[in-house]
Amino acid sequence: MINILDKTFVPFISKEDIETRITELAALISKDYKESCPVFLVVLNGAFLFAGELVKRIPLSCEITFIRLASYSQTESAGSVTEIFGIDKSLENRDVIIIEDIVDTGLTMSQLLKQIGKMSPKSVEIATLLHKPEALKTPVIIRYKGFEIANRFVVGYGLDYDGIGRNLDSIYVVA
Ligand code: 5GP
Repeated sequence: MINILDKTFVPFISKEDIETRITELAALISKDYKESCPVFLVVLNGAFLFAGELVKRIPLSCEITFIRLASYSQTESAGSVTEIFGIDKSLENRDVIIIEDIVDTGLTMSQLLKQIGKMSPKSVEIATLLHKPEALKTPVIIRYKGFEIANRFVVGYGLDYDGIGRNLDSIYVVA
């Protein structure tokens, strides 16, 4: 256990298990995209560690772009809109793989998919380190999934608690 700020972080997924799973996902992606030169869109901040560990195990020609999302509400009936910053190249006719840290309610991802879809990519798939199926509020099809976890708040391996913990090399639940 680690105590940071006023919270206790309880070990949840070990570094070894994370690395083994990332190696498996990298092998799948390498096989699926062997005829392609995919574009990885890394969603900052949380996905930075996962993305680094994943792409260094994928021996393909590929491009890697880092994006940030900003959500803002329109009228209540129109819901919220996600704006993407950092796409510096055309995605037209490209195979796109979004790299995320966690899909929780799926609302962020479904907005992101909608925006990327407008850029006429050839294909779009999702690679996420973590997924909380019980928290899902909108259906999202995830092709490359590290771990399905219960609906608990987690920290480490890129994910933060109030700005802290992104550098932890394994994943903890906040007690
Ligand atoms: P969603 O739109 O799927 O509900 O949320 C996605 C974003 O919420 C993630 O990219 C992440 O930034 C944040 N998030 C969701 N669950 C957790 C969690 O358990 N821990 C942390 N640190 N962030 C989370």
